[in-house]
Amino acid sequence: MGAEGSLQQIADEVRGCTRCPLAATRTMAVPGEGNLVSDVLLVGEGPGAREDATGRPFVGPAGQLLDELLHAIGWEREDVFITNVVKCRPPGNRDPEPAEAAACAIYLERQEAALEPAVVVTLGRHSLQRYLPGARIGAAHGRLRRSFTGQHVFPMYHPAAALHQASLRETLFRDVRALPAALLAAREQLDAERPRSDAIVVPSSAPNTDDEQMTLFEERA
Ligand code: URA
Ligand code: SF4
Repeated sequence: MGAEGSLQQIADEVRGCTRCPLAATRTMAVPGEGNLVSDVLLVGEGPGAREDATGRPFVGPAGQLLDELLHAIGWEREDVFITNVVKCRPPGNRDPEPAEAAACAIYLERQEAALEPAVVVTLGRHSLQRYLPGARIGAAHGRLRRSFTGQHVFPMYHPAAALHQASLRETLFRDVRALPAALLAAREQLDAERPRSDAIVVPSSAPNTDDEQMTLFEERA
């Protein structure tokens, strides 16, 4: 199955999932959505009220700010794939329990494997902890890092935090403006590390002039 098919398959499974207690209180599960071949995966914390009602990620006030942030660098949400650490809303927007995040991790892992993003943008502390355990958002935000699995990670504050703390708005915009360069740097590093499957393989014995090529052809004929 291609990456696109498997992302849709994962979404179908999430919509019917009952692996943790959040299944009992959700209205709709929110698997995530966006560009199925994107190089950029955005990972938030968990659905809020509007996401729970619609089944779509970041469609409330935090989502509006997220759209503005993407627009600031000329991106649309259709350019990236957006999901969350937990796919169902924690009641009253409480923090997800570690057991809930652990139960839900299989879906995020499969989304990562299907998408193979060059960069994961973490939005907020919970998402950051999943990729860089022990990292502090205040120190880590706005700079490209690598997780212990080798995944390039670009930590950002959660857009919702800026709705409560106005000073973070400027930080979020400053950080997102560094994202395109971080994506390029990650791509270059990945290209240098793993040979691309579509690379042109040059046989070591290949003739290197037209004359030699002609000679070989005539001799064989
Ligand atoms: N906050 C999140 O972390 N995720 C959403 O999808 C919406 C708000
Ligand atoms: Fe399943 Fe994740 Fe929803 Fe829990 S939060 S029910 S593990 S999809």
